[in-house]
Amino acid sequence: MAKVLCVLYPDPTSGFPPTYARDSVPVIENYPNGQLLPTPEGIDFVPGEMLGSVSGELGLRKFLEAAGHTLVVTSDKEGPDSVFERELPDADIVISQPFWPAYLTPDRLAKAEKLKLAITAGIGSDHVDLASAIDRGLTVAEVTYSNSIGVAEHTVMQVLALVRDYIPQYKIVVEGGWNIADAVKRSYDLEGMDVGVFAAGRIGRAVLERLAPFGVRLHYTDRYRLPAELEESLGLTFHEDIESLVKEIDVLTVHAPLTNETEGLLSDELLSTMRRGSYIVNPARGAIANRDAIVRTLESGRLAGYAGDVWFPQPAPADHPWRSMPNHGMTPHTSGTSLQSQARYAAGTREILESWFAGRDIRPEYLIVEGGGYAGTGAHSYETR
Ligand code: NAD
Repeated sequence: MAKVLCVLYPDPTSGFPPTYARDSVPVIENYPNGQLLPTPEGIDFVPGEMLGSVSGELGLRKFLEAAGHTLVVTSDKEGPDSVFERELPDADIVISQPFWPAYLTPDRLAKAEKLKLAITAGIGSDHVDLASAIDRGLTVAEVTYSNSIGVAEHTVMQVLALVRDYIPQYKIVVEGGWNIADAVKRSYDLEGMDVGVFAAGRIGRAVLERLAPFGVRLHYTDRYRLPAELEESLGLTFHEDIESLVKEIDVLTVHAPLTNETEGLLSDELLSTMRRGSYIVNPARGAIANRDAIVRTLESGRLAGYAGDVWFPQPAPADHPWRSMPNHGMTPHTSGTSLQSQARYAAGTREILESWFAGRDIRPEYLIVEGGGYAGTGAHSYETR
């Protein structure tokens, strides 16, 4: 019987929701590329309810305990006295989320002697030291596609919020003001701008598709080129690398995984080559950007705005400079954890666990690392050259 250690973000400060804003959530049939939604044998939760915080337990307790397994759920993840570190040495399986990552560093992995499987309830497994996981022969899996469209929607929202300068206008209303000139002095239309996507995987492609009707010129770069028909129908300009991309655009959105190739990529040097007054929206990973370079470039005015929902580390400390830098539209890490996304990644986590306990193969699209190497989605997206 297995011990499953699950780290989730804390419950709402006002208590676990007794009611929800809507009575139901829409049902979707499959993902845009035809991939099947999660297919667990059953679920013990109501889609649309809070599953991603501690009391939601991803809806896993009944299923795991009925099969004789032990489930420990906590949000206490930092430092040697944390529940996570205390429970880790005899855990067989760790479940964590990018929103509230239980960092599985080489040190922690060395202490986790029984660990065999690390599941990301969401997408993006960079909080696991993948090189150590490969050395140890661990399996790392994530719920691919579970929240990709939500992240794409959040990206489009933040692009519009930055370019139109929505947040200060909202503040003026809340504070009882009505100075129109104040409200529009940094407000532009997106129409006619050049928008560039760095990494056109599931999220980046969905962003391109969603922005096409806005009358913008679309550009992208990725290690793999999109199908020619799609490039043609969306009017995409392909660039060989991010350096050539950023010179020709007004808005950059970032959708690559965090790897040793992408860490720190948004540096002073790269940012200095962008058009003055450009915008960046990065919902991929905070560490793809050099923290202080972003602050400097906003302060100098070269960047007109920066948004996204990913920080390093997470949770971001109260004095993280991105909380107070000018012209930002940051959110906490929320784009991938809407109530619908929670239902999908909870069901996908259960599907992965069911496969694991039954000795069946985990779907290749969920795999990041397996059998001492990158596998499935991991081989496509994380393996560096
Ligand atoms: P994906 O695997 O479908 O796409 C990733 C793309 O990045 C691939 O097309 C790959 O070829 C490309 N890529 C990788 N390294 C590159 C490099 N060095 N240069 C150019 N292209 C490169 O993944 P996805 O579902 O689109 O997610 C992308 C990332 O977004 C995840 O890895 C994760 O970090 C992040 N994410 C964030 C949230 C959130 O809540 N904010 C949610 C989901 C995913």
